[in-house]
This record gives sequence, structure tokens and C-alpha cells, in this order.
Amino acid sequence: MHIHDFHQRLTDLGAKPMHIGRITRAWLRGMPLDTGTRNQKTENFLPLAVRNALPEISSELDGLARLSSEHPATDGSARLLVELADKQMVESVLLPRDGLCVSSQVGCAVGCVFCMTGKSGLLRQLSTAEIVAQVALARRFRAVKKVVFMGMGEPAHNLDNVLEAINLLGTEGGIGQRNLVFSTVGDPRVFERLPQQQVKPALALSLHTTDAELRQALLPRAPRIDPEELVELGETYARQIDYPIQYQWTLLKGINDSQEEMDGILRLLKGKYAIMNLIPYNSLEADEFQRPDGDRIVQIVRYLHSRGVLTKVRNSAGQDIDGGCGQLRARATELLDRRKNRA
Ligand code: SF4
Repeated sequence: MHIHDFHQRLTDLGAKPMHIGRITRAWLRGMPLDTGTRNQKTENFLPLAVRNALPEISSELDGLARLSSEHPATDGSARLLVELADKQMVESVLLPRDGLCVSSQVGCAVGCVFCMTGKSGLLRQLSTAEIVAQVALARRFRAVKKVVFMGMGEPAHNLDNVLEAINLLGTEGGIGQRNLVFSTVGDPRVFERLPQQQVKPALALSLHTTDAELRQALLPRAPRIDPEELVELGETYARQIDYPIQYQWTLLKGINDSQEEMDGILRLLKGKYAIMNLIPYNSLEADEFQRPDGDRIVQIVRYLHSRGVLTKVRNSAGQDIDGGCGQLRARATELLDRRKNRA
């Protein structure tokens, strides 16, 4: 079901915008659709025809994103494997401190060489309803006060739906606009569209290297924007919304952890309204990429930090259970295939 169909159905049953608003808010908060307010019970508010249709609408909305399995980690995060109505799987991750990471596509076309999701290519886009349904689902378990678009998929490749989801979450969903984080490898359309939005999200840019050629090799199908230009575009948006850009840097031993790269980061980010998030790669056995040693990571953080670039180390959430985005889905698909083969 699309958001538009959901609203149209309510309108056809006689619902007015205020009724639709209340039902949408209840859904996005993970509450029953007929939830009333303290001063106004649902029976005194919603038209009868609407009330009678709510159980059926509710079960359709539930079908948009169902919990298939939950994988808690020791860091307080939990990966949720979410099944969509057509049985495709995506991941949401409950993050510590009331955060939620959502997926925007099934698979991804960017093909980052260190990412499991990238290996499957793009399977399909998520609708706006499927994106916000992940928030409604997570809120049945826990409060969600921050939503980051860092799960499966490249939000810039599903821009209209992601922006509509951000708008809904920032209004009816009750999430502050800077607590909505649009995460992208960088795309000119993002820098055009974000400043025009009513709800202007925070922005995370996946930089990974300051060397344009290496970036092309690591992120083969990302738009060709030079790292310098990407940072300039990011800086303009940061000043527009008066909020820093978060740069993401998956740290790969021997690839982008050199002294030259660190000096490149200083050259690009010093004096900028920016935070550098280093995410040491979580290597699996026999992996072609490796995580730098702990000493090297500490050295890098000290180096950047002491020279004026605010730097944080972020471990990929739920590290002890899985390596990176899309791995759960890969594993679930593998299981399904095995089951199919057996049948
Ligand atoms: S890291 Fe993100 S952009 Fe790159 S392939 Fe994976 S999901 Fe896509």
C-alpha cells in the first residue's frame, strides 16, 4: 500500500484531514490506529465508517514491514530482519540511545567493494510507506527519536520516496529534523533538493578516501564528484542548516589508513563544519579487506583531532553478530534458498 492509497481510502470513507492526521500519527508511533487522545476518545472523533475499516487497514499496514527475526548485540543495538509484503527482506537496526537505522532500497546499485549489500545490485526501491513502516515497527519495541538512512540502499537513488518519508517522520512522526540523517555517497540532486525541503535533515557523506581515483575504485557506481567538490557542497549545506556534516570513512587497512590520506583529510576538512566518523572495517575470516590494528586507529584519531578535525570512531552497530549492512539479508536469502532447494 502506498501512502497516497492509504489516505485516499480514508477520504473515501468520509475521513477529514484531521482524522487522517490522527490515524497517520498513531501508525507512525507504533500505536493502534484507533488510539484516541486523553481528552477525546476515538468513538467521539472518527466517523463510524472509518472506525469500522481500521482493522483491515491496520492489517495491511502491518504487512508492509513484518519482523522476521531479531538479532541483539552486546553493544545495545539489535538488527531486525524485516520482511516486506512481497517477501523481500531488508534490515533495520535499533541503535543505542533511541536511534533507528532504516533501509531505503532492497539491494543497492552503488556497489561499494567492501559492502555486502552492494554485491547483490539493486533489486527494487522501497516505497515511502515501506520506509516509514520500519519506524512504526521499531516503535512497537522501543522509543525511536532519531532515524538514520544508513541501512541497505543509497537514499539518493530513491530520492522522492526518501524525502517524502523524511517529511512524514519530521511532521506526523514527531522526529526533530536534525534527528533525521540522510546518508549518501554524494549526488548533485541531493544538494539541489535538500535545501528546498520543509524538513531539512542532517547530512552524512560517505567519503572513504580523499583520492578521486581510489574513490572511484572503492565506490564504482557513485556519481563522479571529486572529494574536494563533495566537501564544498557539504559545507554549503551545513552552513544553510547550521548543523555539521558527518563524514563517513570506512577504515581499511593498507588502503585508506595511510599518512597521506590523513593529511588529505586535514586539507579537506580543517576549518569545516564537519565531524569525521571513522568506521574501522569489521573483517570476517578470509576477507579481502582488513581492519587496521587498534594502535593505528588510536594514532589516526589523535592525529586528526589534535590538528583540528573533530574525529570519532564508530563501530558498525551490532558488530559482534554481523559484519556490515546487508549481511543479515544475505544470510537470510541463503537460508531461504537452501530451504527452497530442499523442498
Ligand atoms: S555501502 Fe551503502 S552505498 Fe555502498 S553499496 Fe553498500 S548500501 Fe550501497
